[in-house]
Amino acid sequence: MPIEYPFGNVPEYGEPDQVARGIWRVRLPMHPPLKAVNIYLMADGDGLSIVDTGLNNDATRQVWEQLARGFLATRRPTRLLLTHHHPDHAGLLRWLCERWNLPYQMTSAEQERLLPGARQAGSQDADGRMLRAGVPDEVIHWRRAAPHKPESEPAGLPPTEWLPMAGGEQVRIGQDDWEVIEGAGHTPGHASLFCASRRLLISGDQVLPRVHASLDTWGGLPPDGLLQRWLDSFARLQSLPQDTLVFPSHNEPFLGLHTRLDEMTAYHEGRLRTMLEMCAQQPHSVWDIVDATSALGQTSHALYLSCGTVAAGLDLLAARGLARRETDADGIERWRPTAGAPANPGL
Ligand SMILES: [Zn+2]
Repeated sequence: MPIEYPFGNVPEYGEPDQVARGIWRVRLPMHPPLKAVNIYLMADGDGLSIVDTGLNNDATRQVWEQLARGFLATRRPTRLLLTHHHPDHAGLLRWLCERWNLPYQMTSAEQERLLPGARQAGSQDADGRMLRAGVPDEVIHWRRAAPHKPESEPAGLPPTEWLPMAGGEQVRIGQDDWEVIEGAGHTPGHASLFCASRRLLISGDQVLPRVHASLDTWGGLPPDGLLQRWLDSFARLQSLPQDTLVFPSHNEPFLGLHTRLDEMTAYHEGRLRTMLEMCAQQPHSVWDIVDATSALGQTSHALYLSCGTVAAGLDLLAARGLARRETDADGIERWRPTAGAPANPGL
């Protein structure tokens, strides 16, 4: 089934758009290139469950206040569900929970990322890993000196009740049961919600129709096995019905879940082939590959994310027995194909 977008309209920020019985999509503002994050409002008994929060900034809070005066004036929010901890999804966790006294539900792996000190724990030896990846000093220093914006900071935990959820569990929302599908790779315990009786999937960032989600570059470069975990996390989604209507966190609701999962796999496999080809020409560090494949004028933040993606790819090539690393006298790890790698990986 090709990818189709059954809703022709792109609603204004903050304008609830009914996408299924008892489910409204609301676009909240973001900077380009994404421009918006979708949150979902779901009829839930006498109240309303909210999925995700938007960014912690004035523009987003203004949209919430506008919703409070309008749509939410007659529908009382009673629970907040979070797909994952990223600031565009959980940035207003604390603010929303306090405003409506909401319990919040998220997986334990995501909640851990919001605990005090989590960021420091994640960034241990980040500089060392960046140096071994060949990232130049000025990029490492730029990153360290980059000003922190409140909207990109972790949300902090609200004082209200945490209701854990885990993969395989059913969450009751209104009349329907929604299965929690836990994925890893974008973040450690990303939750998607699938309603089998209605063939609806709230996919978060796990499946996006037009862009590729970043890999988990928490505090530096990603841990081993990350890309394999990301690819593995497609399996449960592949088993969902073809005609599942997908409600993603960015871009428009769509049909064609299997096609998109195939595209996501092909995208990463294509990148792996390119990396192996480059390393076959001459040994490459993570940074050599980022530098050679990035568009001119990319921000340091984008380059930094690319380092994580490339490092995760090289790690997977090593796990498949296709590439190995050697550490130079300068302490930089450079990668070359193993004897078992295909001579023309691109063919
Ligand atoms: Zn995300």
